[in-house]
Amino acid sequence: MAGRLADKVCLVTGGGRGIGRAICELFAQEGALVAVADIDPALASQSAGALARPGLPIELDVASKAGVAEGFAAVTGSYGRLDVLVNNAGILLSTTFEDCSEETWDRILDVNLKGTFLCCQAAIPLLKERGSGAIVNMSSVAAKSGGFTGHPPYAAAKAGVSALTIGLAQYLAPYKVRVNAIAPGVIATAMTQTANHGELAARIPLGEVGEPRDVAACALFLASEEARHLTGEIIDVNGGLIMD
Ligand code: NAD
Repeated sequence: MAGRLADKVCLVTGGGRGIGRAICELFAQEGALVAVADIDPALASQSAGALARPGLPIELDVASKAGVAEGFAAVTGSYGRLDVLVNNAGILLSTTFEDCSEETWDRILDVNLKGTFLCCQAAIPLLKERGSGAIVNMSSVAAKSGGFTGHPPYAAAKAGVSALTIGLAQYLAPYKVRVNAIAPGVIATAMTQTANHGELAARIPLGEVGEPRDVAACALFLASEEARHLTGEIIDVNGGLIMD
């Protein structure tokens, strides 16, 4: 099958809906074999079954090391290898500095940051062995802003994702494995249906919120050979919300 990801085996976490689903759709259109991992098995199945090239649904909580190991085993069991990992799974819970509970802090850090780490750790031996491949992590505008909408654990977790991206890019460069991240601004998904996000959206210089496909297009570029000389980079997809 022709395409920019022809026959590449790609694992997308949080692929059941929103940005992750758009990434799965675009990657499949570009010829990839897509493993759609999600904590919600029904969403994973719906997304995988609707792809241009039907994918492999995987029920997976990225915050569980045992669950990640099982999910990666399912991918290599079906496809025999891994070429691209997209660490897209994430959660945002509304909280503030003063009322954030320990449970809320832990779950947000566990899914967004530890989950990204665990999936990277599981992918490393597979990608090193092949001497090629790419990891795309999902950071956020919150990593630079501190969280416009006042979400301290989320901002801290996403800043951690950006730092992990740079550290892992350095570690894997000798193996020709590239590691980059995307920092979306306000994208129209279930995650951003809040009043705070409405206020933030009104400040976007380009005058509109982004669509999941805007992030998917960036992920496709980073995963493809077109980005062969690009690693350790965090790309803003935010309509100009932060320009630096
Ligand atoms: P979403 O809530 O629409 O979708 C997230 C998906 O991840 C869901 O399918 C959910 O079931 C899955 N998921 C949640 N916890 C999981 C877990 N523990 N293990 C596996 N899957 C899990 O969110 P979205 O807006 O599509 O966000 C996707 C990514 O982009 C997230 O990392 C988010 O933090 C990041 N992001 C989004 C925006 C935005 O404006 N939407 C902005 C910046 C960053």
